[in-house]
Amino acid sequence: MTATTDVSERGPLALAIIDTLVHRIGKDERAARPHDWLEATILTLRNEIIERWMESTKAAHAAGAKRVYYLSLEFLIGRLLRDTLANLRHRDEVGDALRQLGVDLSAIEELEPDAALGNGGLGRLAACFMESLATLDLPAYGYGIRYVNGMFRQRIDDGWQVELPETWLAHGNPWEFERRESAYFVGFGGEVTGDEAGRVHWKPGEAVEAVAVDTPVVGWRGKRVNTLRLWTARSLDPFKLDAFNRGDFEGAMADQLRAESLVRVLYPNDSTAAGQELRLRQEYFFSSASIQDIVRRHIQYFGDIRTLPDRAAIQLNDTHPAVAVAELMRLLVDHHELDMDAAWAITRATFGYTNHTLLPEALESWPLPLFERLLPRHMQLVYAINAKLLREARAAEGIDDRAIAAISLIDEGGERRVRMANLAFAGAHSVNGVAALHTQLMKSTVFADLHRLYPDRINNKTNGITPRRWLQGCNPALTSLIAEAIGPDFTDDAQKLPALAPFAEDAGFRERFAAVKRANKVALAEHVRDTIGLRLDPDAIFDVQIKRIHEYKRQLLNLIETVALYDQIRSHPERDWTPRVKLFAGKAASSYVNAKLIIKLANDVARRINGDPSIGGLLKVAFLPNYNVSLAERMVPAADLSEQISTAGMEASGTGNMKFALNGALTIGTLDGANIEIRDQVGADNIVIFGMTAEEVAAKRAGGYAPRAVIENSAELAQAVNAIASGVFSPDDPNRYRDLMNGLYDHDWFMVAADFDAYAAAQREVDRRWGDRDGWQRSAIRNTANMGWFSSDRTIGEYAREIWGVL
Ligand SMILES: *Cc1c(COP(=O)(O)O)cnc(C)c1O
Repeated sequence: MTATTDVSERGPLALAIIDTLVHRIGKDERAARPHDWLEATILTLRNEIIERWMESTKAAHAAGAKRVYYLSLEFLIGRLLRDTLANLRHRDEVGDALRQLGVDLSAIEELEPDAALGNGGLGRLAACFMESLATLDLPAYGYGIRYVNGMFRQRIDDGWQVELPETWLAHGNPWEFERRESAYFVGFGGEVTGDEAGRVHWKPGEAVEAVAVDTPVVGWRGKRVNTLRLWTARSLDPFKLDAFNRGDFEGAMADQLRAESLVRVLYPNDSTAAGQELRLRQEYFFSSASIQDIVRRHIQYFGDIRTLPDRAAIQLNDTHPAVAVAELMRLLVDHHELDMDAAWAITRATFGYTNHTLLPEALESWPLPLFERLLPRHMQLVYAINAKLLREARAAEGIDDRAIAAISLIDEGGERRVRMANLAFAGAHSVNGVAALHTQLMKSTVFADLHRLYPDRINNKTNGITPRRWLQGCNPALTSLIAEAIGPDFTDDAQKLPALAPFAEDAGFRERFAAVKRANKVALAEHVRDTIGLRLDPDAIFDVQIKRIHEYKRQLLNLIETVALYDQIRSHPERDWTPRVKLFAGKAASSYVNAKLIIKLANDVARRINGDPSIGGLLKVAFLPNYNVSLAERMVPAADLSEQISTAGMEASGTGNMKFALNGALTIGTLDGANIEIRDQVGADNIVIFGMTAEEVAAKRAGGYAPRAVIENSAELAQAVNAIASGVFSPDDPNRYRDLMNGLYDHDWFMVAADFDAYAAAQREVDRRWGDRDGWQRSAIRNTANMGWFSSDRTIGEYAREIWGVL
């Protein structure tokens, strides 16, 4: 990438990039490496953003606007350059300028590290929401942690997952601004005392400093630039010179190391192993810094803490920041000297809480002794809040002792624990689910008693995805094709996409739609060849399941069906099989043994099937390493079939399902989460639904489910399970999958066996539809046309009107 072009042809933007390269990075163009061009481009772009950013802040301030604060332990933002350029409508201009310098914009975009500060859907939702908040011109701050390593990088060694640190900051981060002036003390432990005037004092035993690091978030058309404020940690005494001079080099830095460990990595939220205390520390660290920042800003602008709910809406993305409820109470009572009732009214009016899971093992709770030791003052406040809550409950009708125990912030069954979901519920005026079914189940299951006490609190906000990243950014060819057909208005309002529906009847349009998909598949096939050395046929069905590896998401169901299909193809080679490529990607929590084994199984199955010449290439299986936003952006536009096959009632919403359908994939899925609403939007004829409903799953559980009989009654299933169990796919270790398969016979918590026959039949239905080329393309177009409702702009509009009161 050396400058070979005529210097006299360089425009002002090219000269600005050179200027940045020389004066900010200290290199001339001959010495510049691709990373230097990336950095110079981002820094140049930043100059324009900064002005808009300051304007956005000033305008909000001048208007006295209410601000939205989105607290999330995860922000899965991915790369920012392409998105930002597209939103500023600058991509062509910057591409031209770089071309004048002999640099290829697409190539440097690919060098940008993928900021993986999240596990999966919850973190990606936070990132989509930040973009939509800016797009809707709402003043908002995202608050989270600036993890030095974030989510681990996944390598596959001999089929096994290996976790490596993600070094996304290795080349620095040109997007961010450290705000040393925005720093707060965050204390832990110590003791609480009272004085004669009745005031309470918390003297923490240790403290760190939280320092703000800001990243600009640019909305569509650059209308507004909001702030993603991530906290980093600094020791109050980072370097002890006296210790150093005594020769104690490690001791001299020990406090700083301890502080840094707070922001080192994101603990996978379904990890069951250690790191528990560190996770609670992380949650309090970022919640406390964020609440202090919000309160400071409010006082600075408006003077009176009692007007906080009129000027600030704080949304808790799941329970990870729920301790913020107690933190705000602490500041109101201890620092602003409000009485408990006044403080509680302000707190409730300020917070909203979004629930993301009903799985009992994923509902956060902390052992009481740990909570009390780390946060003694908050423990007192939790008790005080609980007393108020339970008094209210006792006074309500129809609340018996069992209900009181369920409502309590303290779980008294067995080891006493602080229930974060109950704290968030009690401390918020709005509690929302993320898809219609999920919200309904919140009311009837985990929150049934709290719902009886506060029947108006639970509401639904079905998730969404930003179409800027998940259509326009990742699928430019489809975006152009849609614009040719219906004009460009859909880029400003995804709800205009339905105008595309009539084009499903246009044979010429169907051909062009199919050609875009095929080109995307060719591009993905090249990537697969380059990364894992496997050749794929772009005319086969690309059948994709990418998401965290978890038993409830049932990658195992897909793999067992893959094995069954492999058997069928071998047994009946004369049949007219549809060529298929099964693509998998996803990370398993490092402590989740079965999920890691499922990754190994996918790789073992792939090795065996891909290496078997007798099936004539009709079936290929690939596991792509290191699933992240960037990989999703490659895979989603190339999928024909989207696998959304969770056990009904277990996937709160899903957002991967939305990305695929928007890009013209058909869904094979259960009636779970947002799949139900996707079916309602795209039409039952354009989606393949199978399996038990949430009600049927619950009934089967209650009625004593006997998977052994189910397996023995299904020849196809029994054969596949027994082949895996007996080591057909693991000749090097025949017992590798014995326990995993025995689990299906013994309990099958996730009802893989119960849904297997329906799933296999649905897959043959997919083959049949694929055989009707026109019919398939019609369905694909209708998917794209009818997915506009799932824009996160629609979701954020609902939050803004119905929860935050800012629209
Ligand atoms: C969208 C997305 C998810 C969520 O996928 P689900 O299928 O809804 O679980 C997870 N990870 C990444 C990188 C994503 O982009």
